[in-house]
Amino acid sequence: MARFRTLDDLGDLTGKVALVRVDLNLPMQDGSVTDDTRVRAAAPTILELSAKGAKVLLLAHFGRPKGERVSTMSVSMTIDAVQAVLGKEVMFVPEIAGPVVAQSVGILRPGDIALLENTRFWKGEEKNDPELAKAIAANGDIYVNDAFSAAHRAHASTEGLAHLLPAYAGRSMEAELKALDAALGTPVRPVAAVVGGAKVSSKLDVLTHLVTQVDHLIIGGGMANTFLAARGVNVGKSLCEHELAATCEQILDAADKSGCTVHLPYDAVVAKEFAANPASLRTCNVHEVAADEMILDVGPQAVEALADVLKTCRTLVWNGPLGAFEIEPFDAATVALARSAAALSKEGVLTSVAGGGDTVAALNHAGVADDFTYISTAGGAFLEWMEGKELPGVKALELA
Ligand code: ADP
Ligand code: MG
Repeated sequence: MARFRTLDDLGDLTGKVALVRVDLNLPMQDGSVTDDTRVRAAAPTILELSAKGAKVLLLAHFGRPKGERVSTMSVSMTIDAVQAVLGKEVMFVPEIAGPVVAQSVGILRPGDIALLENTRFWKGEEKNDPELAKAIAANGDIYVNDAFSAAHRAHASTEGLAHLLPAYAGRSMEAELKALDAALGTPVRPVAAVVGGAKVSSKLDVLTHLVTQVDHLIIGGGMANTFLAARGVNVGKSLCEHELAATCEQILDAADKSGCTVHLPYDAVVAKEFAANPASLRTCNVHEVAADEMILDVGPQAVEALADVLKTCRTLVWNGPLGAFEIEPFDAATVALARSAAALSKEGVLTSVAGGGDTVAALNHAGVADDFTYISTAGGAFLEWMEGKELPGVKALELA
């Protein structure tokens, strides 16, 4: 894997200013934070830098203010949550560059922490304007990026700054990069990928990349319907992108050429209506779906076979639920396969990495999130990484 500096490369920082990019794009309701996961993810880095004596300046975006000051999108809305998680007082600075930041740095003592305003209030942020990056860098001595979730964007605070100051990966960035490398960079083989979710069209690049990387590609969710239909299966009223039949054939051909075995479900859980435990619920072979039925989950026999596939693998990367898991009993396949993967991970025979908004929710629902080797909460950045794309925020940290 590419080399990058980490906090291990830093000694005493007394009096030095660390500009630290974190993810504070927290979910809010009625002015209060509803989930502080992202703050907890950044806390080890912030506290470690503080303990080394640095004056820590936090940089983050919040919402989409599009280059304007929008008071309802001030990062100061998160400060209570940040202080609560850190157990320390945090000073708010309503700028990201210039004399106000410089004065604040003068007031801060070694180890103190300040939260700078929403980086996206400045137009230069999303344009990765070198002038803005220079102005931000002028108030710092080192740059630490701990926001993997924003690393797919080449912005001033995620990319530009890394070229202007000695740049380091924070602890959560470091953990994410190590986990992703173990899953797809230099994985122990055989490798299995589970790709599910609603639509093939949203994950075309993921599928195209994965067939060249993994030994087993397990396709579930609504996207399996599209593949089954491409193979001539009548999927009834299932969610299905019939127009992508040729694309599916190309992906299957590419898999064949790279020696990747593609697993499509051969039985399914179907119903006539999308509701919890509907009267029309039944399990059948995928060739027996009626014209007025929808495939809403992978069937139990297929799940058993997939669990056997996982037993032969040493690495698993998972994005997308196998069924419409929000509604019972269409969570069954996802929960069962997740539990198999979790058990193998706990035994130490499988390295399992998962990511994606609904995937994380599904794994939490299955109660196995702690047993997976690593769960990425990075969303868009995780998907771009699964597509094999280079992430500018990560690239900028890499050492030659
Ligand atoms: P992620 O957020 O983890 O990347 P996606 O957003 O791609 O995952 O997919 C999740 C959605 O796919 C869920 O809302 C789930 O209900 C839906 N889904 C999965 N299987 C089916 C299916 N057979 N029919 C309809 N929707 C499905
Ligand atoms: Mg989703």
